[in-house]
Amino acid sequence: MSTRKHLIYNPVMECMSRDERAALQGERLVRTVRHEYENVPMYRERMKAKGVTPDDIRTIEDIVKLPFMEKTDLRDQWPYGLFAVPKREIVRVQGSSGTTGHPIISGYTRDDVDAWSEMMARTLTGAGATAEDIVQVAYGLGLFTGGFGAYQGADKIGAMVVPMSSGNTQRQIMMMRELGVTVICCTPSYATFLGETIRDMGLDPKKDLKLRAGCFGAEPWTEAMRVRIEELLGIDACDIYGLTEICGPGASFECLEKQGMHINEDYLYAEIIDPVTGEQLPYGQSGELVFTTITKQGMPMMRYRTHDICTLDPTPCGCGRTTTRMTRITGRTDDMLIIRGVNVFPSQIESILVRVPEVAPFYQLIVDRVNSADTMEVQVEMTEGFAASAPESIETVRKYIYEQIRSVVGIGTTVKLVAPKTITRSEGKAKRVIDNRKL
Ligand code: AMP
Ligand code: ZN
Repeated sequence: MSTRKHLIYNPVMECMSRDERAALQGERLVRTVRHEYENVPMYRERMKAKGVTPDDIRTIEDIVKLPFMEKTDLRDQWPYGLFAVPKREIVRVQGSSGTTGHPIISGYTRDDVDAWSEMMARTLTGAGATAEDIVQVAYGLGLFTGGFGAYQGADKIGAMVVPMSSGNTQRQIMMMRELGVTVICCTPSYATFLGETIRDMGLDPKKDLKLRAGCFGAEPWTEAMRVRIEELLGIDACDIYGLTEICGPGASFECLEKQGMHINEDYLYAEIIDPVTGEQLPYGQSGELVFTTITKQGMPMMRYRTHDICTLDPTPCGCGRTTTRMTRITGRTDDMLIIRGVNVFPSQIESILVRVPEVAPFYQLIVDRVNSADTMEVQVEMTEGFAASAPESIETVRKYIYEQIRSVVGIGTTVKLVAPKTITRSEGKAKRVIDNRKL
């Protein structure tokens, strides 16, 4: 446990006893399920098909009686089929970043936006931010929830917001430097890129910048990447999690203990299920994360299958919060790659690469099928310093990475060390996998 002083935005909600919280969640679930049943035909049909009525839902434990929802349900009901209030009560829509398939949207009432702002205010406070801070929002401000979420939370805590949106790295750094920005919000891959660019510009973050914390999420990252970002930017890097279907960022967030993300459980109920059987799993077991919104009015979500894999920990945290924490997302049940029959998570490969000091955390996995056999090429950038080394040294590192991947992931791959700055940078979520197989 660290000895630092933790700030908590809403101690009543974040530190209540677990029994009190379960009672509150029960009441809220009962109301939400009735609202869904009465106002959304799809929920009514799904519940009827399972033989459940709102009267069967009395406590939070009854949640297991309810049906699951999937992303395809949002697509099938596009655009307004899942709205549970008349459109005039909706004040905002936000959408998925839409890197795969048709976009999805979620609708928010005024109260829903306020609840989301509160979740993000707690998130920023968890990273130590207060009204004294200057918060730069470098998540995209648009349909994507990242930018607006961070903006609303920073606004709610009374910080000075610099709403840069994503992109234009030189300008981001100029603003950071000249305005004395103290907190940055962006994807972890962009944070790394910012850190490297700052260094390439000959700046010393500790002397030239006032940054002290960052809230990074919207894509998977690793503990090793945290170490790198903290080192590059001289800050505390906190993980934050969310998804469009539920509210956007702020569903859960790390405090400065950095021991898992606190779930905003007075708004959301989290479960871990076995992705194959759908059965609820006990705390501590890894499985698919499922979220139920228990206050949302505009577009509530019942047992939404996120396909993100993690573990829940209900034990109290050193910060004083009593909310359940979720571990980092260790993979997804669906975008898991299957290479010659082996399940491969890009995060496994990333955690190998980030431990090799000669390479930078910019990589791409190129998957293909040659003569009906799957192939995977791992391209990773060398660091500036290492790129100038003798070919034999480069070959030694390449072989080392190859061996590591073979022993950890269990497959042979082609490993290519490429020149610095050759892998396309993303201003939002990084595109790590290029799958050229025609399935
Ligand atoms: P979107 O709705 O487009 O914002 O995408 C939500 C998805 O992004 C989630 O279901 C996760 O797969 C991923 N995601 C968001 N935050 C994190 C995080 N902190 N760590 C890992 N994956 C994340
Ligand atoms: Zn904590």
